[in-house]
Amino acid sequence: MSLDYDVFVVDPKPIPSAVPGFEEAVGTATWPPSTATLIRDGDRAVLVDCLITERESRELAAWVKSHDCELGYVYITHPHADHLLGLPQILAAFPAARPVALAESIPAMQEQISPGYMQVWAGFFPDQLTREPVAPGPLAGDTIAIGGTTATVIPVGTTDTGHSSVVHVPSLGLVVSGDVVYNQTHMWLAGSMPDSRASWARALDAVAALPSDTLIAGHRHPQAADDDARRQIDESRQYLADFEQALARSTTPAELIDRMTAAYPDLANPYTLWVAAYDLLGTRT
Ligand SMILES: [Zn+2]
Repeated sequence: MSLDYDVFVVDPKPIPSAVPGFEEAVGTATWPPSTATLIRDGDRAVLVDCLITERESRELAAWVKSHDCELGYVYITHPHADHLLGLPQILAAFPAARPVALAESIPAMQEQISPGYMQVWAGFFPDQLTREPVAPGPLAGDTIAIGGTTATVIPVGTTDTGHSSVVHVPSLGLVVSGDVVYNQTHMWLAGSMPDSRASWARALDAVAALPSDTLIAGHRHPQAADDDARRQIDESRQYLADFEQALARSTTPAELIDRMTAAYPDLANPYTLWVAAYDLLGTRT
């Protein structure tokens, strides 16, 4: 039995549009395509992130079962509900699995599953979410044992949210990046500030310094070219730099959307770009 990994992929999901003109210009608003990654050594395994709706996380649990392994841990890379709310379905299928995350990320995860936030998430996914959300506990140290192998958790600070991390498995040359690196998908920049975007660029430098060939992004284009680590890190760096420049030259959401769409016509989930543009340049009331 040997060390390997496998990726569960979820296509973009329709959500109600909250930005003017999107549906007329582009089509149905969608939540980004998402992944969850299973890393296993022999019959022991770790799942990294666990999606958001009840249905997809139940399917994820069945998919993990089909790998004939015992799930030791579920690691959540960062405090965003779309990587976290599937936890009850995974734990129902694997009651012995321990859900863990960076200790410093847990207050924000608890906030994500608070009644107020759950109402917000239910607005995106009506009647599709767990009614009994759970938060992970703190990971002790910075490693996760998987059979005879060790995965290392690397905290990288703020990216598209605070307290982000990636999982590195040196013996596989593998990084599982959560939202730190995106694969041919618009990056979530709504709510970002110059400081947070600079922090995200530093986080990409930290990931680039890890010896790895393969990188599984939390958000991956359904027809992504590959999972090449270098390509994705370089493209994510370029996207951030291009966004910064386009933002500086734009005064309206439409200008920013036009500039970024011209530069990135084929990325998955353009709705993400529109939300960022209206958040950063829309009229405030
Ligand atoms: Zn995400």
